[in-house]
Amino acid sequence: MNIKIIKKVIEKATQNRQEIVSFNGIAGFWKHPRHENCWVFNGKMPIANCWIFINPNNIQILNVMVYNSENRKCGIGSQMISEIRRAFPDSHIWVDSWNCSRPFWEKMKQRGMISSIANDYSWPCTNTTCKICHKDRPLDTRRCIFD
Ligand SMILES: [Zn+2]
Repeated sequence: MNIKIIKKVIEKATQNRQEIVSFNGIAGFWKHPRHENCWVFNGKMPIANCWIFINPNNIQILNVMVYNSENRKCGIGSQMISEIRRAFPDSHIWVDSWNCSRPFWEKMKQRGMISSIANDYSWPCTNTTCKICHKDRPLDTRRCIFD
């Protein structure tokens, strides 16, 4: 992990006087400056982070980001989610899932890391280059029909 980047992030947070707390011994939750009841979990920064909304009866996880594609599929995302489960062991933790992230969340649900996936309908992600969510998009519009 890159210590320089972490130091920078912590300095920035200190300048902004952001509140950094731990829940149940899991450190790295920062109060979101604009959203009510929203915390940014930077436990895996600079590799990955996500937001959580702490509601009266449940916890919602959203905006899960694993930054470097080399770090995807090597367990960083699931480590982060398991830390959130350890921070909130008795809470109902739920997510909305994009089509491309649904297999990941199904796996997390099977392992008990989250309690439920809220949406069961198709929901393409916002990344238009994602082939899982946007497979009907004509990718090669300039192809000559005579070749
Ligand atoms: Zn997608």
